[in-house]
Amino acid sequence: MEQNELTIRLTLRPAGFSACAHLLCPENRAHQFSFILNSDLTIRSLRADVPVQWQCTDGEKPAFRSPAQRVSVAGERPVAELWVEYEGSVQFDPMQMKNWANIVTPDFVSLSYYSVWYPQDFPFGIAQDRVLLADAPDWFVVKGRWDPSRSVWEYGGEGYDPFNIAAYRKEKLLVVSDEAMNIYFMDPAVRPQAEAARDVYRHITAYYNGRLFPQRRLDVLDVPCAWPAIREGGGYRRRDLMWSVSPGEPGPGLTHFLAHETAHIWCTGAPAETWEDWLNETTAEWSVLCLALGAGDRELFDYTLGRHLPRAASLPPIRTRGGSRPEGVHSKGTALFYRVFEQCGAGVMEKLVRTFATLPDADKNTASYLAALRRGGLAAAADLIEQGLGV
Ligand SMILES: [Zn+2]
Repeated sequence: MEQNELTIRLTLRPAGFSACAHLLCPENRAHQFSFILNSDLTIRSLRADVPVQWQCTDGEKPAFRSPAQRVSVAGERPVAELWVEYEGSVQFDPMQMKNWANIVTPDFVSLSYYSVWYPQDFPFGIAQDRVLLADAPDWFVVKGRWDPSRSVWEYGGEGYDPFNIAAYRKEKLLVVSDEAMNIYFMDPAVRPQAEAARDVYRHITAYYNGRLFPQRRLDVLDVPCAWPAIREGGGYRRRDLMWSVSPGEPGPGLTHFLAHETAHIWCTGAPAETWEDWLNETTAEWSVLCLALGAGDRELFDYTLGRHLPRAASLPPIRTRGGSRPEGVHSKGTALFYRVFEQCGAGVMEKLVRTFATLPDADKNTASYLAALRRGGLAAAADLIEQGLGV
């Protein structure tokens, strides 16, 4: 069992931050290793428990994430402890298409895994990770714990990715809550959207949790909204954190967003960086479509299909020769399942979605999925899917 720990001490600045990453890796036996960090950040110092040399090389393009630099560390002996001090900003820049969902303003801070704002891709696992936000008594950190004795917000320490930070200056923070969720926002104009989202979420979980999917205990969902600090881009979900620009106007767009992201509680596990990601995304989209079919919500059904069917034909095949993830697997997969829907009907679609959700983790791949469909009496659907994968 790896005992490695990573702690990030974060200090907010008017338009950026400074940070110190402290890595403990007592089991490391390598003299040299490397990690990545956002290209816009500047390393001020790097030291370790043994003498080290280090250098940065720009040009990393990690999957789904912002451009990064690779930081290579060479120790005279194996490094067991490392401190990296760095600073800068990872501000969202729609023109350069980078740092989506990340911003530091005087009232709101949003930092995510996707911006590589902290050291990532070490050659070893991290068992314990946490973020400490220093000198922040005026702030509220979503999922954080306030420690008055140290005057820090602490997030993480439970072996769970705590690096998706959403923090609000307390005097600006508004909240809509019920027993299942908290929606955090700044602009009073967002309140009607937040109240609608709370009601829609109840409707979604009533269908998913125990009807479409096997029932499980759901964590309380936290939904930080970035509006108006960030006004464009999509949301992302990390277990019980669902980041969004804003819930959006009540209607099919709002329901779709919540229903797609909530479906990923069950529709997950296929390797997301390969073509197999089509399984995660297609079953999540069809969870939304099954919700629409069950509720007789024609508007949601048409909205969801309309996102995909028009573009599906011009996209590359789902299956790739090298295993890489092709563009547009959401759309291509949703259209492929639509063919099954047309031939086999609505009842089969719930089974298609549920069969993927209930596969053991080790079997979350297309070959095992098709085999499970055939075992479950859905051979015709499996044949249609297999023919439509391409290559
Ligand atoms: Zn998705």
